[in-house]
Amino acid sequence: MITIALSKGRIYKETLPLLAAADIVPTDDPDKSRKLILDTNHDDVKLVIIRATDVPTYVQFGAADLGVAGKDVLLEHGGEGLYEPLDLKIAKCKLMTAGLVDAKPRVSGRLRVATKFTNVAKRYFESRGEQIELIKLYGSMELGPIVGLSDLIVDVVDTGNTLKANGLKPVDHIADISSRLVVNKASMKMKHEKISAIIDQISAAVS
Ligand code: AMP
Repeated sequence: MITIALSKGRIYKETLPLLAAADIVPTDDPDKSRKLILDTNHDDVKLVIIRATDVPTYVQFGAADLGVAGKDVLLEHGGEGLYEPLDLKIAKCKLMTAGLVDAKPRVSGRLRVATKFTNVAKRYFESRGEQIELIKLYGSMELGPIVGLSDLIVDVVDTGNTLKANGLKPVDHIADISSRLVVNKASMKMKHEKISAIIDQISAAVS
């Protein structure tokens, strides 16, 4: 059995043609079905549909052999127990810091940074030797600077329209993001033939 972890939405839609290149075609549609495990055209290949941030965890612990996750999610997770053999070059964006367009410099205390990417933010500001106060949020980070919760946010930015619509501007570039294929390290050894065939076929489709 080969289990592949995917999240709904953009990653799912953009991964489907790549899986099709490896002759893996789901027989259920996650938008129409409430099933969390989707069958495919192969009895021994299943897709598990989970939250994007859970994909590295499922693959790390071997609950899925393979997965597709954004580099932002992988950087935040840390990548323990995973191989990352392939950049799928889909769902591209950037991890950035952002603040108010008309931000005033902080007069006292540490810079406050609100984000769901707390590990990434901690490492980034530490690497710059900057002491910050981290505020963990789970969404709508753009609100942070508007309501005075934080000076900066760390978030993924694509067109920048969301920042602009909220009176924010990108400040510093942290990393270029795209979706990656990840593989459980033990699965890579135990199911090497099947998994390396899938990787090769997807790799050919990417390039
Ligand atoms: P934009 O307004 O185009 O800069 O898009 C910003 C918002 O879209 C972000 O706050 C994210 O929630 C989401 N977004 C855009 N691109 C991606 C991506 N590749 N992966 C995950 N989220 C994204």
